[in-house]
Amino acid sequence: MLEVKHLTKSFGDYCAVEDLSFQIEPGTILGLIGQNGAGKTTTFRLILNFLTADHGEIWWNGQPIGKKEYNLIGYLPEERGLYPKISIQDQLLYFAQLRGRTKKEIEPKIDEWMTRFQVKGKKTDKVKTLSKGNQQKVQLISTLIHEPKLIILDEPFSGLDPVNAELLKEGILSLKEKGSCIIFSSHNMDHVEKICDHLVMLKNGQTVLNGVVHEIRQSFGRTKLFIESDLSQSELENFAGVKEVIKKEDDSFELTLLSPEVGENIFAAATKNGYIPMFNQQPPTLEEIFKLKAGEING
Ligand code: ATP
Repeated sequence: MLEVKHLTKSFGDYCAVEDLSFQIEPGTILGLIGQNGAGKTTTFRLILNFLTADHGEIWWNGQPIGKKEYNLIGYLPEERGLYPKISIQDQLLYFAQLRGRTKKEIEPKIDEWMTRFQVKGKKTDKVKTLSKGNQQKVQLISTLIHEPKLIILDEPFSGLDPVNAELLKEGILSLKEKGSCIIFSSHNMDHVEKICDHLVMLKNGQTVLNGVVHEIRQSFGRTKLFIESDLSQSELENFAGVKEVIKKEDDSFELTLLSPEVGENIFAAATKNGYIPMFNQQPPTLEEIFKLKAGEING
């Protein structure tokens, strides 16, 4: 288990990460979100000991993390970098050996991982002959092939098309099933919502959200209403407590409510003649929560 305890790091007068705490149990995934400059990469660099914290501690399985744990980590940095003139195979073996793995252990896994990520090319091809997306997949493989116990991925989905993003998602989930602790940053809330168990949102180094993804969503209340009934747009707009009504292409409406209870009045009015095809009250999506929190002045 990874435990981050009260981590603080300043650069000069600017506090890039302030009193950050979270933990990641084996077999779970934590999503770290926040706008540009929020402190995500700094957090990763602190965990990896590339930077020294001003305060706070990082523990691995009940002890402060040390040198020997660094071989257990798979890290995908934000700045991607491979050796262009070296073959895929030699590259993967080189990075795995740097992490204390033997050629014998890794060599048989190369084909399996290249197939899993559908890398277009042979393992003897030089990296520079691959497309950008395929180079990125090779780098992901080099991060994951030694099946690290702690996986840190800085923006792993950026630059991948939807099909490859799906392959990566499956790759991450398979390592979760094998019991790895996984942390990744993303600007794509859909990925975060689909695969993360926990979520931490940073804003200017401060923690503005920290918890279980579905609990965070529920804590905002079911203020989104999707309805299809005989009620017209203006009738819906006239209910007290309705903030916004958007007409959808299929003639249903998406409403933003000031509080979940407003839905009860609308339900009563919409169903006074009986059956309606749709009435679905949901908490805001992570995307909406992200925008709300990012926009708060003192968030
Ligand atoms: P992005 O989404 O753009 O990658 P981020 O959330 O990863 O952003 P960080 O790279 O952690 O953000 O940066 C957090 C803040 O710390 C920024 O204001 C950045 O300018 C500052 N910062 C990061 N590293 C250094 C450094 N080595 N020296 C000075 N300031 C730094």
